[in-house]
Amino acid sequence: MSILRVVFWDQLSLSISSLKDVQPSDTVLMFELQDEVTRVEHHPKKIALWFSAMRHFAEELTNKGINVRYIDFNDAFNTHNLAQEVKRAVHSLSIKKIIVTEPGEYHFQKTIHSLEKSLDVDVEIRADDRFLSSIEEFKKWAGTKKELRMEYFYRNMRKKYNILMEPDGQPTGGLWNYDKDNRKPPSLNIIPIKRISHKKSEILKNVLELVRNNFNDHFGDLAPFDYAITKDQALMELDHFIENILPYFGHYQDAMLKGNAYVYHSLLSSYINIGLLLPLEVCQKAEAAYMQGKVSINSAEGFIRQILGWREYIRGIYWLKMPEYAELNALDAKTNLPSFYWGEKTHMTCISEAISHTKIHAYSHHIQRLMVTGNFALLTGLDVKQVQDWYLAVYSDAYEWVEMPNTLGMALFRDGGIVASKPYAASGQYINKMSDFCKQYYYDVKDITGVKACPFNALYWNFLQCHREKFRKNPRLSFMYAIWDKFDTIKKDAITSRAFDILKKMEEEGL
Ligand SMILES: Cc1cc2nc3c(=O)[nH]c(=O)nc-3n(C[C@H](O)[C@H](O)[C@H](O)COP(=O)(O)OP(=O)(O)OC[C@H]3O[C@@H](n4cnc5c(N)ncnc54)[C@H](O)[C@@H]3O)c2cc1C
Ligand code: SF4
Repeated sequence: MSILRVVFWDQLSLSISSLKDVQPSDTVLMFELQDEVTRVEHHPKKIALWFSAMRHFAEELTNKGINVRYIDFNDAFNTHNLAQEVKRAVHSLSIKKIIVTEPGEYHFQKTIHSLEKSLDVDVEIRADDRFLSSIEEFKKWAGTKKELRMEYFYRNMRKKYNILMEPDGQPTGGLWNYDKDNRKPPSLNIIPIKRISHKKSEILKNVLELVRNNFNDHFGDLAPFDYAITKDQALMELDHFIENILPYFGHYQDAMLKGNAYVYHSLLSSYINIGLLLPLEVCQKAEAAYMQGKVSINSAEGFIRQILGWREYIRGIYWLKMPEYAELNALDAKTNLPSFYWGEKTHMTCISEAISHTKIHAYSHHIQRLMVTGNFALLTGLDVKQVQDWYLAVYSDAYEWVEMPNTLGMALFRDGGIVASKPYAASGQYINKMSDFCKQYYYDVKDITGVKACPFNALYWNFLQCHREKFRKNPRLSFMYAIWDKFDTIKKDAITSRAFDILKKMEEEGL
């Protein structure tokens, strides 16, 4: 029987479940689709990463003697539509059965199910066992719990995979979580560490030309292109990170610096998310570095928690709550995304730094996504869909399953508290503490109401007041409400008026 095994652009692992029992008579189908790279206008670097990594993966399969039907972007018959390409392959190869690993995004899952109905073939959808918690397992953990806090899920995962665990069942080092040691403000000790760049293959050169010719109008710089595009290259990046950068990761995890996009972050999310690296191998290498005394416990645990904890938890939430999750808008936000998210000039150094890192690298690190662009979107009530489309388009690691709970849930609190126990709202004080952005100021971070006062300050207080009914009883915010209540009327009015001016200016001429 002829079997078609469909492999998506984020399933580039030889161990992927859809390929486990691949036979010489089977065909693996892979494709480069206009529909997908323009569903939102993805960053040119991300498109180049997808196409070049897919082409290398297809070559690797072919070298192993596996039949691959690779539909490249310029193929004359390419319909650029997922369902149409599967149909075309089914008909031309007389396929009787399709095997696919469960897609990462809800709408693809719907497409796959619809194929089962519309084509006269069996469709077998296999679990994606690269994730360390299955969708079913997460649902079971969630059960009827009132609150789904990541920390408890993470402890279970540590036990399940015996990572940083002692034989008596206690966490290594005595604590489950060393986050309190991981919030050092930036210091002069932070020196940019050179990141790896890779020799350009012929495949990559061709893809770069293709992307330059077809997606020049998308936001973002294509060159220089330093991403890993094969498993071997991604492993080099992983080893480089573990040896040279992980030792510093812990302390400065939340620090932000002008002109230093990466600080001590790993840059591995893009590779883990497309399957070039497996989450378990990444965690185990970090654990081994700790066991060998190369890194401190707060660095190893802090890093492992992001992958074994946050990444799995976020994916669990997505599949637990979709499709209703996508429609949530607990704070009724609907302001248009300002043009400075797309690179127009702004005097807010924190925003312009985050956007410029994004434009150049298709990357900005977690705190910039959460506490700068995310925080600003939260405080100004930016439209959830527009913000999500932006995050999905501009980051090389962005896929709906991971982008949506992070954006809608963590950054925007539009899920009403499923992911976060309180909104990650902050004034300029936080950004000033954790970065050097406010030093070269146009705006004054210490001022709240003046014409040059940092916009985050008045917006922060205004946000708390606008949503007072929702948050005043939240134990993590009641302290801030008590402070506001002590302000005199003149100060309260001045803050409200400054916030109003900022919102108006943002819509009319920018900030
Ligand atoms: C608004 C917003 C949107 C985001 N969108 C995405 C996205 O589309 N894709 C994505 O992979 N991450 C997303 N994140 C999470 C996080 O910011 C990125 O995973 C991280 O910045 C990637 O850089 P890194 O590899 O250097 O990570 P590091 O800081 O080195 O962390 C190590 C790894 O942990 C994992 N990780 C860390 N935090 C998270 C998290 N909150 N959710 C899931 N995985 C996590 C990633 O695999 C990452 O590679 C988002 C966060 C926010 C606040
Ligand atoms: S002063 Fe305000 S707007 Fe300027 S960089 Fe600091 S936090 Fe950002």
